[in-house]
Amino acid sequence: MAGLAYLRHPASLAHDAGSRHPERPERILAIERALAQRGWLGARKLDAPLAERSLITAVHSRQHLEMIEALCARGGGAVDADTVAGPGTFDAAMHAAGGAAKMVDILLSGEATAGFAGLRPPGHHAESERAMGFCFFNNVAVAARRALDAHGARRVVVFDWDVHHGNGTNDIFHASANVLYVSVHQSPLYPGTGQETDIGRGRGEGYTINLPVAPGAGDATWCSLTEHVVAPIVGAWQPDLILISAGYDAHRDDPLADCIVSDQGYAQMAGSMRRAADDLGVPVGVVLEGGYELAALSRAVVSTLEVMGADAAPLQPNLGVDPLALRAAGRLAGLWPVLAPLTRA
Ligand SMILES: [Zn+2]
Repeated sequence: MAGLAYLRHPASLAHDAGSRHPERPERILAIERALAQRGWLGARKLDAPLAERSLITAVHSRQHLEMIEALCARGGGAVDADTVAGPGTFDAAMHAAGGAAKMVDILLSGEATAGFAGLRPPGHHAESERAMGFCFFNNVAVAARRALDAHGARRVVVFDWDVHHGNGTNDIFHASANVLYVSVHQSPLYPGTGQETDIGRGRGEGYTINLPVAPGAGDATWCSLTEHVVAPIVGAWQPDLILISAGYDAHRDDPLADCIVSDQGYAQMAGSMRRAADDLGVPVGVVLEGGYELAALSRAVVSTLEVMGADAAPLQPNLGVDPLALRAAGRLAGLWPVLAPLTRA
């Protein structure tokens, strides 16, 4: 059954980290204004519920949950220089995590084939014991855990195309063979993790894939890695669900990093994932992470939803194989034999 679900909640506007903070309520307003002009691209709009506390403690310690709750109840304060809570932050963060989990419920019960959780604060930097990098609870990790714990999913992919490495998600699933975490990110850049040598540990070895790119990388690199490295791995692994940690801060107009991905580049990356999902017959859920230039952010979210809401995956232009994709294939082909043909191309 086709269909696109969009999770939102007014609580996303109540998290205020200060008027000069780039991760601000206007991000949501800009996205929703752009989507409203396009009739929400046919998406069914749904309220993001508050997360049950057990959803949060499936990936975070109870101490962490209670620390954020108590901090906000006192009126808020800085967790670190970048990560500032206000009185409305706990409520916003609980809806952001709850919305990501609800999206998974909708997707894995067959009520929609694609979903977008358009909520804030973002999540991928949040570690099990620590808020950081504008993030309090790891929304996409909560979503992946929900798929495993409540829906009997055996394999979940989290593809993180935020320009920053998702250190929190990387760590939470570092030793898991049930969640494949794949990140394309600029390096060097905050938070400094995500070296290509980090491939997971223990049973999770091989199920963490880090694909750092240099400052200045654009569509040729980002889309080629997605199409020629990430999509084949996803296809070979046959997950029950594909989640995208969708930051839009690799955009050429974004002020926080130095990559130059275009609106069309996001459509192409979304297209690669949509086709992988369609080929497997599994749903795809998109969770908003970063993206700080309001016009670019809202256009790129529209581009993503155009692809996710379309009746069929778009035909992909013939994407060349970027040298970085070739190198990644060579490095990963031992763990992921599906990449071997690329190394012989
Ligand atoms: Zn980011």
